[in-house]
Amino acid sequence: MASGAMRLRAGDALLVVDLQRDFCPGGALPVPDGDKIVPLANELIEEAVAADACVVAVRDWHPPGHASFHEKGGPWPPHCVQNSAGARFHDDLRLPENAILVSKGMALEQDQYSAFAVEGFADRLRSVGVRRVLIVGLTQEYCVRESALDAVAAGFETHVRLSGTRPITLEKGREAVEDLRHAGVIVEDGEDKS
Ligand SMILES: [Zn+2]
Repeated sequence: MASGAMRLRAGDALLVVDLQRDFCPGGALPVPDGDKIVPLANELIEEAVAADACVVAVRDWHPPGHASFHEKGGPWPPHCVQNSAGARFHDDLRLPENAILVSKGMALEQDQYSAFAVEGFADRLRSVGVRRVLIVGLTQEYCVRESALDAVAAGFETHVRLSGTRPITLEKGREAVEDLRHAGVIVEDGEDKS
């Protein structure tokens, strides 16, 4: 384990963000090496289960013709359409049966990059005693970034395991890391800031 890495314990939540087939190589909106983080995600899930921490599986879950798609003038090719093969979690991801499932981007006219944009999510975590969150997943500069910024703003001690994320573009990924640090998110496994 990397030095300084958060050790999961009861009262923590592990958020696995958008580790879906469409965001992995071969998918509709592939992140370079997006699938390479699956083994680490599985390790952390095992650690969470053993420690009685919550596991939260966040997924992009769009209706057909979603506002974020090119056909509607949005920035993205169609991806993670509800119930499509591409919207499934990566085949090798081993989520526990009691994982909390959070679906975002479900409203036709509105995109959601952050898990905390889903109404009631922060309260749900608080209601089960969560104080710290550890975030991994895709993509580093959109949904991981936004989720982490919202988590810290909501008062959670927020960690992002950088080796458990991947950006679409390296430059935007680096910018995201700076934004996270600036906001008080604990970025683990990061390279030197200079
Ligand atoms: Zn999306």
